[in-house]
Order: sequence, then structure tokens, then C-alpha cells
Amino acid sequence: MKVNIPESEKKRVVIIGGGFAGMNLAKKLAKSNYQVVLVDKNNYHQFQPLFYQVAMAGLEPSSIAFPLRKIFQKQKNVYIRVTEVLEVEIENKRLRTTLGIMNYDYLVLGIGADTNFFGNESLAKHCIPMKSVGEALYLRNAMFNDYEIALSTDDYEQRQGFIDMVIVGGGPTGVEVAGALAEMKQYILPKDYPELDNKEVDIYLIQSGNQLLKGMSTEASDKAAKYLTELGVKIIFNNRVVNVDKNFVYMKDGSTIRSRKVIWAAGITGNKLKGIPEESIVWGNRLKVNRLNQIEGLENIYAIGDIAYMETEAFPKGHPQVAQVAIQQGQHLAKNFKNLIKDKPLKDFVYNDLGAMATIGRHRAVVDLPWFKTQGFFAWFVWLFVHLFALIGMRNKVIVFINWVWNYFTYDQSLRLIIKVKERYGKRQ
Ligand SMILES: Cc1cc2nc3c(=O)[nH]c(=O)nc-3n(C[C@H](O)[C@H](O)[C@H](O)COP(=O)(O)OP(=O)(O)OC[C@H]3O[C@@H](n4cnc5c(N)ncnc54)[C@H](O)[C@@H]3O)c2cc1C
Repeated sequence: MKVNIPESEKKRVVIIGGGFAGMNLAKKLAKSNYQVVLVDKNNYHQFQPLFYQVAMAGLEPSSIAFPLRKIFQKQKNVYIRVTEVLEVEIENKRLRTTLGIMNYDYLVLGIGADTNFFGNESLAKHCIPMKSVGEALYLRNAMFNDYEIALSTDDYEQRQGFIDMVIVGGGPTGVEVAGALAEMKQYILPKDYPELDNKEVDIYLIQSGNQLLKGMSTEASDKAAKYLTELGVKIIFNNRVVNVDKNFVYMKDGSTIRSRKVIWAAGITGNKLKGIPEESIVWGNRLKVNRLNQIEGLENIYAIGDIAYMETEAFPKGHPQVAQVAIQQGQHLAKNFKNLIKDKPLKDFVYNDLGAMATIGRHRAVVDLPWFKTQGFFAWFVWLFVHLFALIGMRNKVIVFINWVWNYFTYDQSLRLIIKVKERYGKRQ
């Protein structure tokens, strides 16, 4: 069966992935002389940097996800198809999707990355990843469900398993989750669960190296560790999680931690797509591209964002897998597509590094910008502003802003619902 898309005289650019990379490419190509088809397995764009606030019941999923059809409502040249791409048939210039066959003239992969459990089955089975809104909601449900069970658990050791949390990975996600959990312990648990002794609740952050926020400045790493320690987070440096089962986390040095909730924020790996030759795949499952984002050795097929691996003088080991790279590569490729159709020369991609930041609870953040570094209250303000500004859609910006102001003054979020999805509906295709 063929996916129904109107035939056109225009060349068709099929973009797989409505993340930061694919969405920005589609936006910039919307008024071009190409027919644009944006394909995603979800019907929404997800703002991954705020997943942790959904998991911590600070925001509703709908405030950080945005329907793709709404983004492109006015762009008659952009066709959206909600389907999973199963295979690229390079010889025939077509895709096999769950909806059927789809032809392309140019193909762009903006398929992003997924959680990397490094082939360890116990981690994949028992740890909670945070690479989708669904996973963030799963964590929210698991956390509040376990607090409920803990209330009826007399045995101290057993109760620890329900209330203690382990976060693996001291990058921005791990640090932000740890900070948010520590604040929940401080402000929410005593009000919602007065029968629980919140001093019994332990939050562990495990980092294999000797510093947090690798890739940021030493000042940022040190301050992040200081802020988390002040909030009561137990940071374990220079150790690794080697195994996890339903109740315990097993560390490399032989120690164990009792916890039923292990949040895995220790690495990502590129999403694989059948049909892409193995020779194009490099470390981290990324696709090797040239400076025009063309996958090496494949004509007419491009990769952008987290999935793309481009070596440049400034980034000899590839660009960091962050939103700004994805956005800029999407926008740059759109310019090159427009040049291509006008027979103008194509330009190499150059990343404009805008810096990095992470927040650690209220009033505390670390910000490394190219022209200055700051930590503390001002950094927190910068963090709030940047994230609010980057969200898609005015409604989302307003709702998130109201939520943040509300949380700020009340020290409370009111979204602590345990939402159960009926399996019958969960499975529906
Ligand atoms: C928890 C978390 C926090 C983060 N925080 C920050 C931060 O603070 N700052 C920052 O700069 N970056 C942050 N990042 C990283 C940033 O979100 C990514 O770099 C960015 O999303 C990459 O964009 P992308 O378009 O390449 O991929 P994605 O945004 O991952 O989009 C990929 C899209 O492809 C779709 N897709 C994949 N495979 C298929 C298929 N076979 N068929 C159809 N559709 C498919 C997916 O559904 C998805 O919509 C964070 C990431 C996470 C997970």
C-alpha cells in the first residue's frame, strides 16, 4: 500500500522526525519550491529539556508537547504523516512505514537518539529512562505509587526501597532531576505524606567520573555539586552501577543501594533505521555526515541533529547532542536546499555555540555562555527565561509561566496524579 500524499511537480523532501532538527528544517522549507513531508511516529513535538518537570509533577505533558499539525496549520506545502518508518529502501528511493510505502527525492533523517543501556539487560529492564513524555509520566506514576505503598510498609528496610531514589548520570538531566527530587522531599512530602518521615528519604546521584556536568566549566561543575549537597542529595563519584534488579542497585565497588526506582540518565545512542548501511554508522550509533549534512556515501540522504556525526576543526569528535545543534543544522540544511534548487553554491555547516546551562532547584542554576559564566540566582533567572522562550507555542509559554509562578509562591505543584492507562487503550495502534 502506498501512503497517500498528493503527487506534485515539485521535488519531494521527506523529513523523518519532528524533533528540534526536523521541525526547524520543515518550518524553513515550508514556503520553498519543494514538497515537504514531515513524518513522525508521534503527532507532537516534544520539548525534552523539561521532561524532568513532567516527571516531578511540576508540569502537565501537554505544556511541553505541541501537535505537529498545529505548528504547520498554515503551511499548505507541508504534509504531516504520523507513522513509524521501518526501513529505507535506498535503491528505490522509498521508505517502508507502518502506513505503507512513501517515495522521496531527498530524505532527511532527524530521528534523534534513545537511552543507552550499553547492552546491559538488567539496566534496560529495571531502570526508568527519560527520553519521551510517556517515560516521564511513567516515572511520575511510579514515584507516587511507591509513596502510597510506603505508607503501609512497617519494615524500615523495605520502606527504603519504596522511598529512596537513585539517579544514574551526572549530566544536566541527572543534576536537574536530583535537584527537583530534593525539593519535593523538602516541600511536598511533609505536606502530602505527613505520616512518612521525610528524613528517611534518600536521593542518590551516581556519577562515574569525579565531576558533574562534564563539558561545562569547572566552576559550573563544582557549584552544581555544592548546590545538590546543600539540598541533601548524596552524590557518589567515581563509581558505576553494574546491575539492577527489582529492589537493589549493585555498584562496581561491591556496595548496594536499596531502591525500586533507578532513573537512567547516563547516556544515549542513535536510533537505528533498517536500510542505512553499516559503513555510515559510527560510534554512538550516529550517522557520519559531511559538512553539508549529507550521509557519507549516500546521495540525496541527509542526517541532522542528535543522529548526525560531523567532524569539524572546532568539534573533532562531533558536535554535542543538544537542542541548539539540532536547530541550527535543520535551519542550515533548509538554506542549502533552497540554494540547490537555484543552482547556487552550498555552504558548510558551522556551529554557533550558544553555551550550556542547568538548574538545581529554585534560585540555583549554572550557566556557561560564550561571553560569561554565572551561577546562582541570576543564572536561575537566565535558565527560566531561555527555556520559556524556547518552548513552542504561546499557550505553552503562558501555561508554563503560570505554573512556575504558582509553584514559586506556593512551594507546591498540584499535578501529583497517578494516571493509569487501561492496557486496552495503551496498545491501540
Ligand atoms: C531529558 C532530556 C533533557 C535534555 N535537556 C537539554 C537541555 O537542557 N538543553 C539542550 O540543548 N538539550 C537538551 N537535551 C537534548 C535535546 O533534547 C536533543 O539534543 C534534541 O532533542 C535533539 O533533537 P533531534 O531533532 O535531533 O531529535 P529528537 O528531538 O529526539 O527528535 C527525534 C524525532 O524523531 C522521531 N522518530 C525517531 N525514529 C523514528 C521513526 N523510525 N519513524 C518516525 N519517527 C521517528 C521521534 O518520535 C522524535 O520526534 C535533553 C534531552 C533529554 C532526553
